[in-house]
Amino acid sequence: MSFSEHSLRAAAAPCSGCGLCQLVCPVWHQRRDVRLTPLGRSKALQHGVPVAALAGALDACTLCGACDPVCPESIPLSASMLEWRRLRPLAEAVPQSHAADMAGARGGTLLVAGRSLGADPERLQRAAALLDARAAGDHGADIALAIEAGAAVGPARRAAFLDRLRGARRLVVADGLLLRMLRAWLPGCDAAPLGHALSGLQVLRAKLQRTDLYVIEPRAFHLDHARLLPHYDALQRAFGGATNLDLHRMAIPTTASAAQHILGRPSISPEAQTRWILEGRKVDRVVVEDEQDIAPFAAVVSLPVLHLADLADIPSPDC
Ligand code: SF4
Ligand code: SF4
Repeated sequence: MSFSEHSLRAAAAPCSGCGLCQLVCPVWHQRRDVRLTPLGRSKALQHGVPVAALAGALDACTLCGACDPVCPESIPLSASMLEWRRLRPLAEAVPQSHAADMAGARGGTLLVAGRSLGADPERLQRAAALLDARAAGDHGADIALAIEAGAAVGPARRAAFLDRLRGARRLVVADGLLLRMLRAWLPGCDAAPLGHALSGLQVLRAKLQRTDLYVIEPRAFHLDHARLLPHYDALQRAFGGATNLDLHRMAIPTTASAAQHILGRPSISPEAQTRWILEGRKVDRVVVEDEQDIAPFAAVVSLPVLHLADLADIPSPDC
């Protein structure tokens, strides 16, 4: 048994079988197979099932992090899944992508776009301008995908990426998994989620309407759950509309199967998740924090679907 397998088994040991993680797991919601949930995996590990026999469960996890805050035993569930993914990657390697501008940070705020926002230069620049930030020349798109897939990131590539971020006073990161890893790789750095940073701007908050559905990026939210919950509660009270955090649809992700889809191994349907999030709601517009959420919502509703940064160009309701 490898040290990593031993540590995974030790992490699963406190599981009481309460089943709370199932309530929030998007894979459970769509697949209804307990073997694909943290509960099923933990109980299997407690009873000596080899990690290799849990490959299907490992592949299916979207790494949304929704199970982390609900576990009464504080088991680091999504962190364990990341560890498992490294033991058994979805892909051994992903293609490296380097942006043309590879200049390093020079103080100030640097916006690290990741995979999705990095592919939309106009929206990236709009978000950066709102935050008085500079968009990082290296989006880290390949690194974000590699983290999600469990694929190796070469030490030279990682060092080059991190070296260009070190001079920044503050990092704002669009991808929740990349944010998690940057905090581990650059301990002590001030790194914040993009959705949180943008939603704190009054110029954008004032454009939200009572008939909006506001879709929070789940991975960053669950990473900082205790700190961000009051922020989003206050935001929801201020604009009076709905978010994907209410009731049992707790931050169910529409985006998190992205790596599996890119790599041709889908585990859940983002469109099915969006239908569930929309079920029973009367909304006139969808506002998303994560660029990746635009497509699945646009595929199932004939309503405007905007990125949060796009609100800056929308006239105020009372204009
Ligand atoms: S991280 Fe998300 S998809 Fe994975 S087990 Fe937890 S709730 Fe389910
Ligand atoms: S929430 Fe935690 S303790 Fe409860 S079943 Fe899931 S992993 Fe086990």
